[in-house]
Amino acid sequence: MLKFLGRGSAFTDEHNSAYFIVNDELVLVDCPMSAFLRLNDKNLALYDHIYVMVTHTHGDHAGGIGMLIDLLQFSVKTPITIVAPSKDVEADLFYYLSRVEGCNSAWYELISVDDLEKDWFICSIPTTHTEELEGKCFGYCFSVEGKKIIYTGDTNTILPFEPYLESGAYLYTEISAYKTAVHLYCSDMVRKITDYVSSGVHVYLMHMDDEKRIAQVMKDTGAEFAPLEQGGSTLEDNSRMLRNIFDISDSLYKDMFMNNSRDHALLFSYITELGKTLVDADRASFWKWDKRKHQLWTMSATGVEKIAIPDDTGLVGKALRAKKPVITNDPYSDPDFNKEIDISTGYTTRSVLVLPVADVNGDFIGALQLINKNDSNGFDDEADPKKLSLAALVCGIALESETFLEDSHHDRLTGLRNRMGFYFDFGSKYRDYLIPGSGKKMAVFISDIDKFKRVNDTYGHNAGDDVLRFTADLLESSCGDNESVYRWGGEEFVMVLRDTDLEGAVRKAEEIRVKLLGSDIEADGNTIRCTMSFGCSFFDPSKAIEENISEADGKLYTAKETGRNKVCS
Ligand code: GH3
Ligand code: MG
Ligand code: MG
Repeated sequence: MLKFLGRGSAFTDEHNSAYFIVNDELVLVDCPMSAFLRLNDKNLALYDHIYVMVTHTHGDHAGGIGMLIDLLQFSVKTPITIVAPSKDVEADLFYYLSRVEGCNSAWYELISVDDLEKDWFICSIPTTHTEELEGKCFGYCFSVEGKKIIYTGDTNTILPFEPYLESGAYLYTEISAYKTAVHLYCSDMVRKITDYVSSGVHVYLMHMDDEKRIAQVMKDTGAEFAPLEQGGSTLEDNSRMLRNIFDISDSLYKDMFMNNSRDHALLFSYITELGKTLVDADRASFWKWDKRKHQLWTMSATGVEKIAIPDDTGLVGKALRAKKPVITNDPYSDPDFNKEIDISTGYTTRSVLVLPVADVNGDFIGALQLINKNDSNGFDDEADPKKLSLAALVCGIALESETFLEDSHHDRLTGLRNRMGFYFDFGSKYRDYLIPGSGKKMAVFISDIDKFKRVNDTYGHNAGDDVLRFTADLLESSCGDNESVYRWGGEEFVMVLRDTDLEGAVRKAEEIRVKLLGSDIEADGNTIRCTMSFGCSFFDPSKAIEENISEADGKLYTAKETGRNKVCS
């Protein structure tokens, strides 16, 4: 219910301060200087109005208000109302803001709760804390999202709050590891807090002086620590996360540097892993948006199978349509959420964050999806997209470069891989076949459509294009698992046949020659027949690739010279 900018007591680094957001209004409960510094990171211009609910005037509760007023006045311009828990405290705050902080009273509104009319406000609750502030210390009771929230502020007694502690209520109570007259001493509170929890009250501990000792004493009560905005990150959490981030980037760098990667898949998997680490999620996947096929498919996924889905489905589709992040901590109530995967795998999705990624033109081309943040509050609308932004940016650039690379390896007319794709494959999937003495064998053939110029001259260029597409499809559909075909140039095609000898290549060429010979080709309104000539060679790894192709080309020349429509080897 409440989120915390800090949950420490007076002498800690981060002082106690909570907030909630209702109808685009930010309600801050206490505003110490440390909270002001945290707020400075948030985009305060997003809110229509800011309310600060003051519990009392100690510096670790009210010390940041003056700076917040200044910031809003001189920079952000969002209107602010300071709310005192009583008329008395209102007078003290006026003295403090105008004389000590030097804020002009036109820059803010100061009222007491008597003049606050808001649905989320129920009442301020008088309590006792230090002698000097007798009668001037309060807690609050709020109503947010239909839930009753009790916030104790600083207090040395829980009694004034007990009348509000009904089942289902949220109690945020201060607690202290050291016994003093002004705070609630943890050992004294074990019994009561256990009872509250067992009667259905959600109890959160805040304003803590020593979290480790309090955690020890409170471990069996059922109370939890108040949720910090950054997912409860302690110094150890942060350094563990940094270590993980550096490990991932180090492995990525080394794999790229040592050329173990060879394609984008490894890059995507590392960046996806990085995204998962940055927001502390259970699963992550990276999706490419194929606008031509209207599909989304996973380039990399941790913890799930690779899949392709129509682009108008799921939360990834929703984020890409809306061109903005989609965050839900209750996915089952979102009609766009695809429950089927959970149902079929037995996994339970509790929270989802989808961050769309764009190319350098600003066109959305894919999305990072994170599932199940390891925090009971789920993903944070502001903090988590911010943490993910760098990973999303790198994913966008990587995806764009992968798309360019893929495009540059393909021929637009036929969709076949082109000569650049041919050389790329020799650097990757055929590598082992280039090592003399490896025992791996490979054959190639080069084929050329006979008298193709006549097709263009007789029926026109569009008909020629149709014939090229038909021939390319025929070649492609004739390829087995170990065979690949490339458009070598104009009307010439090369097929590479792995684990095949010369006879195998001749057989395949012959099969294709006969198929083409008997095919009626629909070409721009005409029905045409064509033939093709073939030159085959066995690949010799001791010779350069070009020499091997030249050898096949020589055989093709022989086929052309000796009548065409034949296979030579
Ligand atoms: P041969 O039997 O000796 O191979 O004769 P040919 O006419 O097939 O050979 P030639 O090299 O004289 O002509 C090839 C023609 O292919 C010339 C060129 O305009 C055409 N061509 C190359 N690329 C394309 C293309 O993308 N589309 C179309 N329509 N024609 C193309
Ligand atoms: Mg030709
Ligand atoms: Mg030719």
